[in-house]
Amino acid sequence: MKLCSIASGSSGNCIFVASDQTNLLVDAGISGKRIENGLSNIDIKPDTIQGILVTHEHSDHVSGLGVMARRYHMPIYATYETVMALRRIKSLGEISDELFHYVEPDKPFYINDILVEPFSTSHDASDPVCYTMEVDGEKVGVATDLGKYDDYIISKLDGSDLLMIEANHDTNMLLVGKYPYYLKQRILGDRGHLSNDSSADLISKLIGGKKQQIILAHLSKENNYEELAYETVLSELTRLGIGSSELKLTVARRDAPSDLVTV
Ligand SMILES: [Zn+2]
Ligand SMILES: [Zn+2]
Repeated sequence: MKLCSIASGSSGNCIFVASDQTNLLVDAGISGKRIENGLSNIDIKPDTIQGILVTHEHSDHVSGLGVMARRYHMPIYATYETVMALRRIKSLGEISDELFHYVEPDKPFYINDILVEPFSTSHDASDPVCYTMEVDGEKVGVATDLGKYDDYIISKLDGSDLLMIEANHDTNMLLVGKYPYYLKQRILGDRGHLSNDSSADLISKLIGGKKQQIILAHLSKENNYEELAYETVLSELTRLGIGSSELKLTVARRDAPSDLVTV
C-alpha cells in the first residue's frame, strides 16, 4: 500500500492512500486546485480516485469536497450524521445524492480490493470516524482529530504497518498562547485534539512485532511545530525503550505534500 499526505494540519487535511488497484482520499479539506496539484506530484490523475473517505464535517477536512466530487464524480463515504452535517454547509455547493455512501463505525466494507473500516472517535463533530485500510495483510491507519484515545481506538489501529497519528499541539505552547480560554479548553478537552505527549503515549501502545512507519499529523499552526512534535514523541518513545529498529518516525508537512510512503 501507499500513502501520501497532500496536506495535514489544522488548516487543511487531504491524504492519498492506495493499493496497486485502488486510489482513495481520506478527507478533502484543501482547495480542489491544491488536491489536483498534490496528486499530480505523485503522478496520480484525479479521475482515478475511487472514493473520498470523510472523517467529519469540520472545514479543514471538507472544504474541497464539493468541488472534487462534482468535477470528478467521486463517491463520498461518510457516516449518516456527517452527511446530514455536510448538507448544511452551503459553501460546499450542491452534491448529488448518488455520490454519498453511508458508512457505520465498526462495519468494514470493500472499495475494490481495499478493506476499509471506519471507527468512532471522540471529537466535537456530528458523528466523527477515522479509518483503517487493509490489503493482503498490509494495514494503514489514519487517526487524527481525537480528543482522547482508549482501548477501543488501540484495538482498531493495532497491527498497522503504517500509522498516521495526530500530534496536534504542545500543551505548554497552547496554554501560554494567544488562543481564547474557551478554545484552549476545547482543544484540550476529551472531544478536542491529541497533544504531542498523548500522541507519544498512543504510539507507544501500537508498537510491536514488526517495523512500523509512523507519521505525525494534524499539527497546529499556532501551538506546535515539526521539530517539537518530532522530538517530543521520539524522546518519549526512547524513554520507553522503543528504538529506531522498531519504527520510522516522520512528520507530515502542514502545507506541502509529503513523500509517497510505501509499506
Ligand atoms: Zn481537523
Ligand atoms: Zn475536527
